[in-house]
Amino acid sequence: VSLVRREFIDAARLAGYSNARIIASELFPNVLPVIVIATSTTIGWMILETAGLSFLGLGAQPPQADLGSMLGEGRRQLFTAPHVSIIPGLMIFALVMSINLMGDGVRDVLDPRLKSGALGRPSARTEVAGNRAKETATAGETAEAATEAETVLDVRGLATEFRVGAEVYRAVGGVDFALRAEECLGLVGESGSGKSVTAMSLLGLVPTPPGRIVGGRVAYRDQDLLDVSYARLRQLRGGTFACVFQDPLSTLHPLFTVGDQIVEVIRAHQPLGHAKAHAMAVELLKLVHMPNAERRMDAYPHELSGGMRQRVCIAMALANDPEILIADEPTTALDVTVQAQMLKLLNRLRADRKATVLFITHDFGVVSEICDRVAVMYAGRIVEIGPAEAVLAEPAHPYTRKLIDCVPVLGESRRRLDAIPGLPPPVNRLPAGCAFAERCPRARAECRADDVALAPLGDGRSVRCLFPLVSGGAELG
Ligand code: ADP
Ligand code: MG
Repeated sequence: VSLVRREFIDAARLAGYSNARIIASELFPNVLPVIVIATSTTIGWMILETAGLSFLGLGAQPPQADLGSMLGEGRRQLFTAPHVSIIPGLMIFALVMSINLMGDGVRDVLDPRLKSGALGRPSARTEVAGNRAKETATAGETAEAATEAETVLDVRGLATEFRVGAEVYRAVGGVDFALRAEECLGLVGESGSGKSVTAMSLLGLVPTPPGRIVGGRVAYRDQDLLDVSYARLRQLRGGTFACVFQDPLSTLHPLFTVGDQIVEVIRAHQPLGHAKAHAMAVELLKLVHMPNAERRMDAYPHELSGGMRQRVCIAMALANDPEILIADEPTTALDVTVQAQMLKLLNRLRADRKATVLFITHDFGVVSEICDRVAVMYAGRIVEIGPAEAVLAEPAHPYTRKLIDCVPVLGESRRRLDAIPGLPPPVNRLPAGCAFAERCPRARAECRADDVALAPLGDGRSVRCLFPLVSGGAELG
């Protein structure tokens, strides 16, 4: 009866299930564990009660053997032959305990919550693809050995999977990159290429289950962020690391004023009183050019425009002077004029505050505007990484070339915009060799045979292609 009032039953009703189906698929699996436990406890009690009755001489009569009556008879010889009473006593104990434990075991097997892993330990990483990740890790290390600036965040062989039913979606399949101090690294790729999951994996924000980080290392100073304690992770999130996500309306809490939300971010990381934090929040809103900053502190997210909401998110991200800013398509939900303002703002703040930025986008125009280096992702892996200017001028991977050809250029109105034929491969059925081979005009048989490694190309560039368009600066044709 109590289960019937739970949300999942309401959800099933809303989904239009019939009563019989709700009972069979929602209710019964959830009451089954209770029934099993009740049964095993009752059987245990029954054994104890029969033994008790027989002990008093009210149960089974000799010559019928019974543990309780044996115990009763043995009582008279307790000092001359103690085993006569001790052994039946131990037997009763063992019998009742084993029936209870067996009930527990059967319950654990049947409990839908245990089966789904929802009650399991929410560990940041499980060593499943450890070996695979190690292989990619070494490949990545050689590829990016020459780093001039100090590396603040070193990501090696990062792999994240989603298990939905029997399917395994390799959303991120071994990503390597290093964020250097004060640079802006652009992460580009088509929708679904794993950019957001990469960003969320860095700070352990992937929903678990169904998501799991199955391998890799995210080194910040001498810590592996995938291994640090939850308390430390909370310190880093919003403090050292800040995130701006794509859709500000779903990032902000609808029931709190934006002022309260900024104040909360500040007070979570700095020992400030409410008044001081409030003043600081107003300053932050002014910094991001929020018109009428003081009055807007009391506004709810729905009372603001899209551009204003994103400004609030950027203000929140800047609240604790982050060292690393992760911006996941922060301007995609905005119109072009506001997008241009936001980019200018981000770029200026980056210069002023000396922050390192990981900028996720699918727009090469944005990359050329603010990124120092760019990494191109395809089907969960980085296929090309290098200085933004060089990659934009002379892309080495056929996929990068195609992506750049899709961008319209002002003044080239007669150029035909090339669309890339086909679709990216589904990440639960990745092909054996290069994931792009199916859509690639240069693909040969070798491309489909074996995994292609990210190989250095000189000038700090690396490409995951057997037949790159550029090799060490010389055009191959
Ligand atoms: P994008 O590059 O557009 O940001 P994402 O990183 O969001 O792409 O997604 C990469 C892949 O991971 C997609 O195939 C997506 O379907 C899958 N994915 C992301 N989140 C989940 C989730 N919570 N459950 C199942 N699959 C997911
Ligand atoms: Mg995304």
